[in-house]
Amino acid sequence: MTSKTTVKTLLILGASGDLTGRLLLPGLAGLLATGRVGGLRLVGAGSDPWTARQWKERVDTSFAAAAGAAESAGRSVLDSVAASTEYHQVDVTADGRLADLLAHLEGPVAIYFALPPEVSQKACALLRRDQLPPGTRLVLEKPFGAGLESARELNKVLAALVPEDHIHRVDHFLGKATVLNILGLRFANRFLEPVWDRDHIEKVEIIFDEDLALEGRARYYDHAGALKDMIQSHLLHIMAFLAIDAPASIDERDLRDAVAAVLRASSIKAPFQDSTRRARYTAGKLGERTIPDYAAEPGVDPARNTETLAQVTVEIDNWRWKGVPFILRSGKAMGHKRKEAVVTFRPVPHLPVGFSGVDSPNHLRIGFGPDVLQLDVDVNGPGDVFTLDRASLITELNAAGMLPYGEVLEGILTGDPLLSVRGDTAEDCWRIMEPVLGAWAQDAVPLEEYDAGSQGPAAWGTSGGRSDSGHT
Ligand code: NDP
Repeated sequence: MTSKTTVKTLLILGASGDLTGRLLLPGLAGLLATGRVGGLRLVGAGSDPWTARQWKERVDTSFAAAAGAAESAGRSVLDSVAASTEYHQVDVTADGRLADLLAHLEGPVAIYFALPPEVSQKACALLRRDQLPPGTRLVLEKPFGAGLESARELNKVLAALVPEDHIHRVDHFLGKATVLNILGLRFANRFLEPVWDRDHIEKVEIIFDEDLALEGRARYYDHAGALKDMIQSHLLHIMAFLAIDAPASIDERDLRDAVAAVLRASSIKAPFQDSTRRARYTAGKLGERTIPDYAAEPGVDPARNTETLAQVTVEIDNWRWKGVPFILRSGKAMGHKRKEAVVTFRPVPHLPVGFSGVDSPNHLRIGFGPDVLQLDVDVNGPGDVFTLDRASLITELNAAGMLPYGEVLEGILTGDPLLSVRGDTAEDCWRIMEPVLGAWAQDAVPLEEYDAGSQGPAAWGTSGGRSDSGHT
């Protein structure tokens, strides 16, 4: 059973980092502004000699943006957390330094490792269970390890420190309202479940094409690539939500068991020349912007052959999904921003003679930005009532609310790991991808090219049938 202790101190290691400034503090500010979490002490730490004032300025800037829209209760929480925040200079890779800091903090403490992954791993390895205040929660950012073996090692280190339900492996896609809405759509409506299987669904595509290029992130991205950056955790989790059996409850055990069962049954089958594709962008234009060849971007090592576009076909070997391809794709510098899951249904078994016009399969599209739900159906067209026409039933999803990191932090601070990746699942995500990474490292699958601003290599075609609504 998950304990519901409320965290007293949020310790952010990596206070000066990009994640903290751009995502964590704004997410926290949005959460505090709701007034749902109070009595929190926020502590920042880093290895550089930031002064308390510099940290305070960073906190104040993020909190000020949220305070404007907050009710008075939320504003007073923001004010009191900002007023009491402190900063400590700590090299977490120096033995005993993090433990010394923890000894001075009021527990339970959530330690947020917003650090380079190898630094987080080393810092955890240096900690001992008896150095942690009772109820400590450990918060790890992706990537969880650098492969299956190192994920197992990391999980062992973490398990020696705190129980599994006190470990929060963050995949912020699980905090996105539209991703969570897949559960409501599937399990709070009667009409979908009877057709949600291999008998009625031909394929499922999950596509995250970005119209942004490298944007100066070579130091991180050139070591990751599209497969590890997007597909290995984010898109696999969206796939799992689309594929799970109905859980008895939306609690951490039932939901995470259901996700784990899907991922355990999932694999990418060889030959990988058929089941995977990879490509890298060359110079081109994104709107008015001229984008240089990826290989010529500052900080990129062309010999690393990092892919900026990846596509894999995952198979889920269970009764419900056997034979249905789940196609996961993500690319950078794409001409058309497209973030959606597209479920393509099988054609009707027999179209009555006499109908003419469009006869295409139904598509259900779940857009993740903009957040829309769209069902493509064939209906009577204008004029001859037996001439079919394509219609789209579209609704915008009201995804207004907290930022994904706000949702994730709420779970952490209230002691609920529902939106955190469980250890076995983190390992399974690597188990699914590692054979592909190995084949790509040996050049078993060619690294193709596409112009920045295009739709990817011409030979790939337009998978998924682009939404013609203009919404996706
Ligand atoms: P940055 O390089 O921007 O920041 C790293 C932080 O780690 C710095 O604040 C640095 O502080 C601190 N640090 C490094 N070494 C030590 C040390 N020995 N002791 C104490 N602090 C140290 O990284 P990001 O913020 O981009 O990423 C952090 C984590 O979040 C990574 O795991 C990344 O994969 C993950 N992530 C990042 C995202 C992003 O958009 N940035 C998105 C999703 C996940 P100092 O300079 O003081 O040493």
